[in-house]
Amino acid sequence: MRLVILGGGESGVGTAILGKKKGYEVFVSDFGKIKGNYKEILIINGIAWEEEKHTEDLILNADVVMKSPGIPDKSPIVKKLLEKGIPVISEIEFAAPFTDATIIGITGSNGKTTTTMLTHHLLKSAGLNVGLGGNIGKSFAWQIADNKYDSYVLELSSFQLDGIVDFKPHIAIITNISPDHLDRYDYKYENYIDAKFRITMNQTEEDYLIYDADDEAINEWFKTHTTKAKLIPFSLTKIFSEGAYIKNNKMEIKINQEEFTMDTEHIALEGKHNMKNAMAATSVAKLMQIRKATIRESLSNFQGVEHRLEKVLKIQNVQYINDSKATNVNATFFALDSMNTPTVWIVGGVDKGNDYNELMSLVREKVKAIICLGVDNKKIIDVFGNVVDMMIEVSNMDDAVRMAQRLSEKGDTVLLSPACASFDLFENYEDRGNQFKQAVKNL
Ligand code: ADP
Repeated sequence: MRLVILGGGESGVGTAILGKKKGYEVFVSDFGKIKGNYKEILIINGIAWEEEKHTEDLILNADVVMKSPGIPDKSPIVKKLLEKGIPVISEIEFAAPFTDATIIGITGSNGKTTTTMLTHHLLKSAGLNVGLGGNIGKSFAWQIADNKYDSYVLELSSFQLDGIVDFKPHIAIITNISPDHLDRYDYKYENYIDAKFRITMNQTEEDYLIYDADDEAINEWFKTHTTKAKLIPFSLTKIFSEGAYIKNNKMEIKINQEEFTMDTEHIALEGKHNMKNAMAATSVAKLMQIRKATIRESLSNFQGVEHRLEKVLKIQNVQYINDSKATNVNATFFALDSMNTPTVWIVGGVDKGNDYNELMSLVREKVKAIICLGVDNKKIIDVFGNVVDMMIEVSNMDDAVRMAQRLSEKGDTVLLSPACASFDLFENYEDRGNQFKQAVKNL
């Protein structure tokens, strides 16, 4: 069997290693450059590869093709493969049949990484032999090649789910759905929503789907579709006989005739969105039969993930918060929502078709000054110019942070939550967040 892998990154190289181990004839082809360390690994393992080209003669003879999530279906080589009827699948589809481990798959528009890390933390702290993968860290396929874990918590993007046929997580989570990546879905929101719900398409009565019951797109989908999985909803506003919710400042989870409660103030993560993430992750922990005391302890000591509402420093009683990963309006909505002091808000970057009006009432209520940190800030200025007294444009992070310091007073918060991608002024959101943290430390 010939396995061709398009893309020589983490998931590509991981799949190559697993494929080789399972007796496939493996070829890796990358249209860009393959990173040095990955090249070395391919060479050491005797795996054939090419870079900066796709040689059709070596690709179109594949029995199966693993496409890395970054490569769109519209790319010419993928189109040719599909025309020839060669299956093009994702890493998780290729890898899953080679393990008996229990799979927990987590998707959604926002909150994937936080929920995945928290779920992993809950299971690992309870002593389970559990791996962490998908979009995070070491590739799932690679970990299976090393054959280490009894269960896996996987962060799954819609692109990975596009490439599944039989893949089925025992427990699935959809954290929420809001428009994102529509360029890859013919600009049709329905297509993107359907892609997220592929996570449940192969689930059976034995499996579980945990989802945000406050989410409009999710509720709409359920009106016209079904799943065989047992449903576990979570909500900030509703109450369930089976599910997770918040009541009188307590998180309550009812699953399989068992109940778990915890004061939300003892949960280390802050903000309403994080209560949702905590409900989702704790539901998994309950399904995996983790003891209540262990869950409580883990929820109270999980400090969150870098660049997601990350508290940096308090200087002269002003709290600086790095939420650089907020690359869309929905994420920034929850960041502003969780502010409980007057806020100097640093926003801007590459806008993916944002509707800033969704933030209007929160901005009126909480934001005292806006610092626009983007190449093109016109839209932000047009929307909020008359709403906020102070509005300033800057073109680098040092100026943004210095301005923020000048505009803030004791008791305020300075929040970097850009609602935009970072590529105009930064390499990526990590670079943006790191520059913010460095600038704050230099104050
Ligand atoms: P993802 O992996 O889906 O991008 P992250 O956990 O990295 O999600 O969080 C991305 C951004 O969304 C951060 O700014 C974070 O504060 C915010 N966020 C986290 N969880 C949620 C949620 N449940 N709903 C909305 N926004 C969220």
